[in-house]
Amino acid sequence: MSFSSEVKNELLSIENSPCCKHAQSYGLLLFGRAFSATEFSILTENSAIAGSYCDAVNYLSDKKVSPTETGGGKYKVLIEDPEIINRVFEKLGIAEATVKRRINFANFQDTCCFSAFIRGAFLSCGTVTNPEKEYHLEFSVSTKGLCEDIIKLFDEYEPKPKMTQRSGSYTVYFKSSTDIEDVLSIMGATENSLQVMGAKVYKDIRNTVNRKVNFENANLARTIAAATKQYDAIAFIKEKIGFDALPEELREIAKLRYEDRELSNSELSKMLSESITVSGVNHRFKRLIKLAEELKK
Ligand SMILES: [Zn+2]
Repeated sequence: MSFSSEVKNELLSIENSPCCKHAQSYGLLLFGRAFSATEFSILTENSAIAGSYCDAVNYLSDKKVSPTETGGGKYKVLIEDPEIINRVFEKLGIAEATVKRRINFANFQDTCCFSAFIRGAFLSCGTVTNPEKEYHLEFSVSTKGLCEDIIKLFDEYEPKPKMTQRSGSYTVYFKSSTDIEDVLSIMGATENSLQVMGAKVYKDIRNTVNRKVNFENANLARTIAAATKQYDAIAFIKEKIGFDALPEELREIAKLRYEDRELSNSELSKMLSESITVSGVNHRFKRLIKLAEELKK
């Protein structure tokens, strides 16, 4: 199931109080495929949303309607009955002669109703991308006026949407993980909001781990390169003059490195008969490398 469908299922499971039922029904209808004096309609792949749309029409008109299944696994609700349309307009305080697809803010009794209305709108025309892939939540809206109205609705809230126009249709969208978490919470999809938060935390941890691994890999590469350089110098000295020709303090460390290229300088510092510091070990290797360079000349 897509993340959008999961969110919509969570939204559909919310129990509305009467004031919010009115607002959610309004959102569902206004953001459907058509909302005019001659037609209300919605086309959706989700049968539960089609059912919810019918409930909304029923709630606002007191008339029973039902969805029809169209080809390609889609569900359609088409209302052309003038009696139903007029009853709905009356309930929503819309004068038929002036039907425009704008939000009539008089339909909201309280802030809870804003949330319910946004929930209805999202059920009709919203999508949200899986947060593990991308952060994107949008409302696909038919007119510019309606876009501006949604943006106005979000004046009440922290997340501020952006608007864009694509081949004749309009989109109101959110792009940041925190905005998407907030919008999901506002609509009442708290579980899915937590999932967005979880995905963000997971991404942050993964990035930190990757940075740490890269850092350790780089360190390891430097250590190996240094040990190889020391080994090469010591092998050259052994071949040219032999370990016995070395002063005692260099002889012991040269033998240890010659036998094991993987020992770190810190391990070596503890293995010497006379314990010295790591920088002391470094210093001795520098002397050996210098000696090898001189022998090469
Ligand atoms: Zn309410």
